[in-house]
Amino acid sequence: MKVFYSPEMVADAQSFSPSARKPREVMGSWQRRFPLIEVIPVLPVTVEELCLAHDPDHVRGVLSLRRANGFGNHLAQVAASLPWTSGAMLGAARAALVDGCAVAPVAGFHHACFADGGGYCTFNGLMVAALVLRRERQLLRVGILDCDQHYGNGTTDIIRELRLDWVEHYSAGAWWEQPAQAERFLAEIPGIMQRFAACDLLLYQAGADPHVDDPLGGWLTTQQLRERDRGVFQTARSLGVPIAWNLAGGYQANLRKVLDIHDNTMLECLCAYA
Ligand SMILES: [Zn+2]
Repeated sequence: MKVFYSPEMVADAQSFSPSARKPREVMGSWQRRFPLIEVIPVLPVTVEELCLAHDPDHVRGVLSLRRANGFGNHLAQVAASLPWTSGAMLGAARAALVDGCAVAPVAGFHHACFADGGGYCTFNGLMVAALVLRRERQLLRVGILDCDQHYGNGTTDIIRELRLDWVEHYSAGAWWEQPAQAERFLAEIPGIMQRFAACDLLLYQAGADPHVDDPLGGWLTTQQLRERDRGVFQTARSLGVPIAWNLAGGYQANLRKVLDIHDNTMLECLCAYA
């Protein structure tokens, strides 16, 4: 399993959200538990590639520290990490088209709108990856399955702004949020995913913040999150749709609890694609 990681993806955002430093923590955990994963160095995306999905004023403003990033600060190390985090997603998406599945251990994409960041998200690496590969004619349709606790408003905003009728976006946060819905949600995953059957690529955000103990979440147990991931990977594989996945949110004070959820996603990924 190819995992796209370089230390340049990591920053200290001095934020409630651990997402800027999470790639390093997740990689440490995965490399201890899954020694056979193949770590592939990341190529950062260019300014021009970021501008495929975003207003150039937003891109250049953040990178030159004139505008606040999605964490609401102007830290140089956060800005420097951003071409690398989107680059990891693009690298994983590109590899998935060849290998069937690949991984980007990154978060912080889906609240990034066309002209602005927010909610710990600055640039929308999901949409950057989709737009770069579409321009290269590597795909006609792309699916985005967003299983973060929160609605992917930034993804929707970019799809609307650029009138992208070839992106199929499903954000679970718009429909599911109660523990009483958990078993029905898990049972409906294969049905939900039928909308991606005609896609050439699926980008999957395996968010950790729907966990019942998450301060910003609260409806799935650790085991149910693992069952969610198993359902997604098995269905993608049976549909024959390549899948590139990333991390998204997770805010439990004990980061180890968040890492356990991301470990389980990798475990189910390796089981489905062994
Ligand atoms: Zn979230």
